[in-house]
Amino acid sequence: MKFAMIGAGAMGLRYGILLQEAGNDVTFIDTWQPNIDKIREQGGAYVSRDHKDRHLVPIKLETPESYHGDPDILIFFTKQMQLADFLKRCEHFFNDRQYAFTCMNGMGHIEKLQQYFADDKIIAGTALIATVLNGPGDVDFMGKRGAGKMNMANLTEKPDEMTHRLFDELEKAQMHPTLTTNFKGTLMTKVIFNSVINTLCTMFEIPMGELGNFEKAYDLGRQLIDEAYDICERDGITLVSSREEEMHALDINTRIDMPLHYPSMYQDMIHDRPTEVDYINGYIAKLGREHNYEAKTHIFLTNLVHLAEYHRANE
Ligand code: NAD
Repeated sequence: MKFAMIGAGAMGLRYGILLQEAGNDVTFIDTWQPNIDKIREQGGAYVSRDHKDRHLVPIKLETPESYHGDPDILIFFTKQMQLADFLKRCEHFFNDRQYAFTCMNGMGHIEKLQQYFADDKIIAGTALIATVLNGPGDVDFMGKRGAGKMNMANLTEKPDEMTHRLFDELEKAQMHPTLTTNFKGTLMTKVIFNSVINTLCTMFEIPMGELGNFEKAYDLGRQLIDEAYDICERDGITLVSSREEEMHALDINTRIDMPLHYPSMYQDMIHDRPTEVDYINGYIAKLGREHNYEAKTHIFLTNLVHLAEYHRANE
């Protein structure tokens, strides 16, 4: 299949290179000039696994303005706050035959994609796949080959032939996809998961294991989970896991599965980039407001993360 990977950062490079290695035709499209220059100078991107086996993988890279191809599927892996600009700059090669797929964190991206793609062409999901961009043109696929897993669902909740073809390619690329027919529930379950782990680890600049092993981790998580689940219930969203299952997933992921990992929002914080907190805890709070529910803890945490960003900017 022919893919355009919109955003050649950590996740764009990981998905794109694994899809390329599975036999697909992938073109990467990026706007960050140091990354574009480095990849062109090197003739590709350097890929490591858990800091080892660093090697060069040749890739095709274009800017939005230089690309004139006609991919079957456009995969979006930008940060939430970058998406509107990417969409505007890429619009010239969109057509109504193409599908848009993404596993970005947070919420806010679907409404933006809907401005350019019909609902039956939008597929989105969630990725539990840890990847770090060491710097321009240099990516670390954390975990062993085939590590991680992901969910995907059609916005219409009606998988079609192209959905199954995409699923098969993702499976060949060892991304371990699960296809669901619960669009908002699938996405919101990950938003809630991130609203605890990403946010707390980023604010305190700690790896996930340190949160999981903290004696009050259950209490911290429980308060955030309860607020978020109350709001989703009011919105009629059927989450993929119960409150207890979500608490259990938080515990296993932090203490056992990825104790040494720093979440992606942390990577932004330490590189003095804005975090996606407004699209994670901030989105939960916004959804609460639509149902006259004041998500006090999520609002407080959103503001605290902004305080941490502000502090770094003034250091
Ligand atoms: P990323 O920041 O690595 O890349 C996104 C875009 O930002 C790319 O265009 C990249 O070139 C550019 N970029 C990277 N560093 C930059 C810098 N210092 N200054 C300016 N531009 C820069 O983002 P990502 O980690 O690939 O995340 C994409 C989406 O996937 C996000 O919504 C993220 O939350 C989500 N996600 C990430 C991970 C992960 O482990 N990285 C896992 C699951 C989901």
